[in-house]
Amino acid sequence: MLRQIPAVEELLNRPALELLGERVGRRFLTSHLRGVLTAIRQEILAKTWQGALTSEAIEARTEAAVARALTYSLTPVINATGVVLHTNLGRAPLSHEAMAHATEIATQYSNLEYDVAAGRRGERDVHLTGAAELIGAEAAIAVNNNAAAVLLVLNALGEGGEVIVSRGELIEIGGSFRIPEIMQKSGAILREVGTTNRTRIADYRNAINERTKLLLRVHPSNFRIEGFTERPSLDELVALGREKGIPVYEDLGSGCLISLTAQGLHTEQPAGESLAAGVDVISISGDKMLGGPQAGIIAGSKEMIRRIRRNPLFRALRVDKMTYAILESTFRAYAQEQYNRIPALRMIRATAAEVEQQALWMMEGIAKNALDWEMIPGESVIGGGSAPGFTIPTALIALQHKSKSAAALEAHLRKRRPAVLARVENDRLLLDLRTVMTDQLGPLADAIKSLA
Ligand SMILES: *Cc1c(COP(=O)(O)O)cnc(C)c1O
Repeated sequence: MLRQIPAVEELLNRPALELLGERVGRRFLTSHLRGVLTAIRQEILAKTWQGALTSEAIEARTEAAVARALTYSLTPVINATGVVLHTNLGRAPLSHEAMAHATEIATQYSNLEYDVAAGRRGERDVHLTGAAELIGAEAAIAVNNNAAAVLLVLNALGEGGEVIVSRGELIEIGGSFRIPEIMQKSGAILREVGTTNRTRIADYRNAINERTKLLLRVHPSNFRIEGFTERPSLDELVALGREKGIPVYEDLGSGCLISLTAQGLHTEQPAGESLAAGVDVISISGDKMLGGPQAGIIAGSKEMIRRIRRNPLFRALRVDKMTYAILESTFRAYAQEQYNRIPALRMIRATAAEVEQQALWMMEGIAKNALDWEMIPGESVIGGGSAPGFTIPTALIALQHKSKSAAALEAHLRKRRPAVLARVENDRLLLDLRTVMTDQLGPLADAIKSLA
């Protein structure tokens, strides 16, 4: 049988493969054809080869291998989990409007670092002027993500000296981002004060010495300490910093720009409030509650931002023109208070009634036979390590099949393209449309129909 395998050249000269070669490139095709032939040889030797060894069979397998190789590794999925900032699913989805600006900037030359009016070199920071104004800062710069922002600020303001932080704020964010470790990498010395649950302003005061360079406050993003707790107010911390001439830096994590108390969210204080309280520097994530691209935004006084920007790490951690374009577009929506133009914010602010209405509209025409469904109340979460314990009331589609388990339904949905990701609870498949993009409703309805 091995001897029946046609030569590579002979196969490549067959009309279908010749045509395919013209389309995808002859080298690309040849390499996949060789891969297919190797696999067939192994199957023959292992006696697992079935059917006739025809050129047509080899051709069909080669075409399939080429098609597989040409599908992107990175593909869209339908997020029906109700987790808005799902870190594994890319956190904040971006608007077409923001991406149109990014495309316009990325596919042409731009004034990224050129002052067109003056006719000389400029700085990319100017594109964040609007962002700084919105946050209430004198200046702002952007880096790769908030983890990079923390590293950069600690290095620029704390290297070689001590940085005081409460033991209750020595957090781990996930993906091995831990405050003590990032501090060590920054070259600053961690000076922990207080206890896990209680830290007083006197603890900070007692720890200050001639080596102290920075007072650090970290938003405990992904956990909550309840009960017998205490931490100094921002005002107290700022007053102490002023008295001793030591800057205060607050890593706010999620970077909420607007109040979401109407949604019942009280743990995320808008970034502007920290600066208004007198904090010298803050940093926030671009793709958490801000609803923008992956980035870390550092904002504060002109003097502090100048010191941070001069640091060589800034050059290593800076972001590209596309990120600036998306940030600019995102902040513009904030400036106009048109929050629904930011997909993540639109999702967070949607009411349960709106989610339910969309679900009922989508489920219209999906007959209840083998597949039974009903709407039930449930909860969505913000995710991305933001607002732990906080949930948003939502409406869920609860699906049950006469003969298939919910786990089987869930697995079936994941195998579809685009894959649909949903929750299983009490042997029911739960779909939360809060996190489903409008143009994915059609494909999602098709996926549900395929379950029946
Ligand atoms: C999420 C978070 C970070 C890390 O931000 P990334 O943008 O994910 O790098 C740092 N600090 C806090 C407090 C956070 O919540």
